[in-house]
Amino acid sequence: MTAIACADLEAEAVSAWFGERKVLDRVSLVMPPGSVTALIGPSGCGKSTFLRILNRMHELVPGASLAGAVRLSGVDIYDPGRKLTDARKQIGMVFQKPNPFPAMSIHDNVLAGLKLTGVKASRSEKDALVEECLTKAGLWQEVRDRLRSPGGALSGGQQQRLCIARSLAVRPKVLLMDEPCSALDPTSTRRIEQTIGELAHEVTIVIVTHNMQQAARVSQQCAFFLAEQGTPGVIVESGATKQIFEDPVDQRTADYVHGRF
Ligand code: ADP
Ligand code: MG
Repeated sequence: MTAIACADLEAEAVSAWFGERKVLDRVSLVMPPGSVTALIGPSGCGKSTFLRILNRMHELVPGASLAGAVRLSGVDIYDPGRKLTDARKQIGMVFQKPNPFPAMSIHDNVLAGLKLTGVKASRSEKDALVEECLTKAGLWQEVRDRLRSPGGALSGGQQQRLCIARSLAVRPKVLLMDEPCSALDPTSTRRIEQTIGELAHEVTIVIVTHNMQQAARVSQQCAFFLAEQGTPGVIVESGATKQIFEDPVDQRTADYVHGRF
C-alpha cells in the first residue's frame, strides 16, 4: 500500500455569494502539508461555505458563485479544464452528522467512495484497504468481527469513525471536517481527536469546530472567521494556534477564544 500523499492547500482571495448576497470576502489561507487547521468563529460567518469551496461543493448550490482561487499542490482545483471529480477524489469530507449508508455493511461503506476514483482492486486488496482505513480511523478493533453488519447499527461515534474510514479509502490528500464531533459524546469526541492527531502526519486536515478546547488540542494553526453586522465573513486573524489563543493580534479574536462573544 502506498502512503497517503500530503498536499499544500491554499485559498487566495476567495469571495462567495448566494445569489446577490455576499457571504465571504477575500478569504486567504494556506493550509500546510501534514498540519491541522482549525476554522473557528460564530455561526453564520461562512466557515462551512469556505469548507465546501475547498471541495468544489459550493458550485452545486443553485445561484451560488465565487471568486478567487483554490490550489491543491499548486494546481487550481477550479481550472475549467479539470473535472469536478478530480478535486473530489483528492479531498475527503466528513460532516457534523455521521452519514454512513445505514443499510450497507461496514465493509462496503468503507469502499463506497472507490467507485468515484475508478480504482480496480481485487477482493484481497479491498479487504486489506478496509482493514487499513478502519485502523487509521481507530475503529478496526471494535468492528473486525462484524464487518458484514450494517453501518447503521453502530453507535454515533463509531459511525463517524466509519465515515472517516470511508473518506480515507480514496487516499485523499486533504480531509475536511465540518464540526465532526458536535453530535458526539465526550468519549467519542476524544477518540476522533486522537484519530485526527494520527492522520495529520499523512493528510492535510481542516476542521471547523465551535469547541475552543478542541481547536487548541488538535490544531497547529487557527483561522478566526467573523461576519459583523450583515457584512460578509472574513478571516480576522490566522496564525499558530498557540499565538491565536495566548497572544492574538486582534481584540475580537481574544474575546472570541475566551468566550466573551
Ligand atoms: P457557518 O458555517 O460559519 O455557520 P455558513 O457557511 O453555513 O456559516 O453560512 C454563511 C452564510 O451563508 C450564512 O448567512 C448562511 O445563512 C448563508 N448560507 C449558507 N448556506 C446557504 C445556502 N445554501 N443558500 C443561501 N444562503 C446560505
Ligand atoms: Mg457551519
